[in-house]
Amino acid sequence: MGTAAKRIARDTYMLTDTLLGVSQFLLLGGERALLIDTGYGKKSLLKKVKKLTSLPLVVVNTHLHPDHSNGNKFFEEVLLGEGDLPERGIPSNDMVASLCAAYRESSPLLRPLVGKLEKLYTVVTGEERYSPLGASIDLGGRVVRRIDCPGHTEGSVIFADEKEKLLFTGDAIGRAQWLFTDAASTTAGYAERWERLSPSLISYREMWISHSRKPLEIGFIEGFVAALRDVNPENCKKIKLKGAEEPILVHVGKYGGAGKITVWAFPGQVR
Ligand SMILES: [Zn+2]
Repeated sequence: MGTAAKRIARDTYMLTDTLLGVSQFLLLGGERALLIDTGYGKKSLLKKVKKLTSLPLVVVNTHLHPDHSNGNKFFEEVLLGEGDLPERGIPSNDMVASLCAAYRESSPLLRPLVGKLEKLYTVVTGEERYSPLGASIDLGGRVVRRIDCPGHTEGSVIFADEKEKLLFTGDAIGRAQWLFTDAASTTAGYAERWERLSPSLISYREMWISHSRKPLEIGFIEGFVAALRDVNPENCKKIKLKGAEEPILVHVGKYGGAGKITVWAFPGQVR
């Protein structure tokens, strides 16, 4: 158990939580290093970062979810998209709280387990300072640009590394797309956003996502957009979430080279 480091490009490392599988990314520039996401809050991440670089560190979150931000406590300042600044409220915490309350009520024997899961999946903020991201971050000979991508959360951001031509997309795109954790977008609106972004992303080599150790090809976007457009309540599986008023709709489809893609959304988001 701990954090595994893998070099994925020049001066670029993927840091993966070996127990829970979520990855963070460390980009080294000439004057500063950029840490993209801080994981569940394990000290092994901090140790690994210190081993890989002694450069001053800029810390950013792709979005404010516990598997991306609960290690923020190790740092003085964290930059993130305005829509996810904690002072605006943390929708995923509200969802986790009502889900856990419903399980405590219906299944008293599960209470110890529910307590542990609630702790793991709740965003915790502390002494660290939160500031909005600027348009880009200059690491010294390496500029990383911010691309807004509200959907998975209101403040979700993609980081575009202009030197190595890599994208770091957090949970904004993937083979299992959750839109229900925040009501930031409809399925059609999210499809449009990615369709609009797509031409400007062609020059990048690949997309590194947080919940896979392999990157996605840029061509994956085409299948992803098609999957979002295909979401139709009549063809979806319905999953009842305890504590939620409506079921979650789950669309599953196969999209050529992009493979199997699932999209999860509340009924009100499907249009
Ligand atoms: Zn997330």
